[in-house]
Amino acid sequence: MPARIVCPPLDEHTTRSMKGNRRKDTSPELMLRKALREEGCSGYRLQWKVPGRPDICYPGKRVAVFVNGCFWHRCPSCDLPIPHHNSEYWTAKFEANVRRDAEKIRLLEEDGWTVIVAWECEIKKDAGSVAQRIKDAVTGGSKT
Ligand SMILES: [Zn+2]
Repeated sequence: MPARIVCPPLDEHTTRSMKGNRRKDTSPELMLRKALREEGCSGYRLQWKVPGRPDICYPGKRVAVFVNGCFWHRCPSCDLPIPHHNSEYWTAKFEANVRRDAEKIRLLEEDGWTVIVAWECEIKKDAGSVAQRIKDAVTGGSKT
């Protein structure tokens, strides 16, 4: 009789999802979600099915939040340098990202959403004040 049975497929799956979680634990999005819960603003949905799949959504209030990494989305306050190597490639890539972000916001706003962009650096500096900004939009955003 085998004393212990380990199930390999489950094990593999668990390892993978644990790795995923570990990466996510330090992410700005997770920090922001924690701050939102602390603000009593916990009724959000993740990746709601509207244009751009906003990271955090309050569908009832039509408030959408994008958590943007400063490097990939070209944060205006960080203004991070474009890598020297293959700079043309990076420039084109970044321009496409920025254009796509603007397009997502435009589609949502046209549809009556309030869109908030939360930058990685803002969240890392003061997640509470970003959460406060979102809370203001959620609690005051009953107008159509
Ligand atoms: Zn930034």
